[in-house]
Amino acid sequence: MKKLLSLILVFALVLSVCGCGSFGDPTISVNEDDVSSEDGLPNSSNNTSSEEVEEGPIFDFNSWELRLVNGSTPIPDGYVPELAAISAPYAGFNGASFDARAIDPLHALCADAKAAGINLTVISAYRTNDFQTGNFERKVNNVMAADPSLTREEAEAIAATVVARPGTSEHQVGLAVDFNSVEDSFKNTDEYAWLAANCTKYGFILRYTEEKQDITKIIPEPWHYRYVGVEAAKIMEEENLCLEEFIEKYNKPTADETTADAAQ
Ligand SMILES: [Zn+2]
Repeated sequence: MKKLLSLILVFALVLSVCGCGSFGDPTISVNEDDVSSEDGLPNSSNNTSSEEVEEGPIFDFNSWELRLVNGSTPIPDGYVPELAAISAPYAGFNGASFDARAIDPLHALCADAKAAGINLTVISAYRTNDFQTGNFERKVNNVMAADPSLTREEAEAIAATVVARPGTSEHQVGLAVDFNSVEDSFKNTDEYAWLAANCTKYGFILRYTEEKQDITKIIPEPWHYRYVGVEAAKIMEEENLCLEEFIEKYNKPTADETTADAAQ
């Protein structure tokens, strides 16, 4: 009898462990606990214990991988990701680096592409604020040279549709890469077709499309991919949502800080 009881206990223990959904590659899965501690944020804002658990996935939009970065949502002051070097076969320049928490999915994507005969080279990855400032200034100067009648402010507004203003580029959080070529013709390549069919499996999304340009305010960029995690990427793909739309739809109006947009 005692033996039977302990058997039942062991069985119950095994069941409770299996039901937690914590298996799988920890570098790819979304884990709110890890995310909160990485950002040094308290883990109490999403307290659902006193309420019924809602249907559908719940995302933490303050997490490192779902952080929105765009023209009206700059990177928080002092945000510096922990970086890891992109492996030599895929890095197109010295010092190419990416958020360390997403480096494995990036390498897996590049390796699987290579195995399928698709050669992906990262030509832009993490950028410092100084680097982005230089990029932006060059673009503003080019715009002003092409049309000297423009004011500096007008030129900046045009430049910002192509090169993000310093502090508003996804490259500065280490979660975006540009592959192979920053030419529009990249969308006609086998590499683009492979990425379109496979990138969400690794947690990446094509960030700037023609269809969503009115929302993202950035020109179509077939070369620019953003890491958001597999679960979010799959939903965005299935529901044809850009990141802004995804957040709008899935961000439960609890203790979020969307009022920051009021600064616009
Ligand atoms: Zn880019």
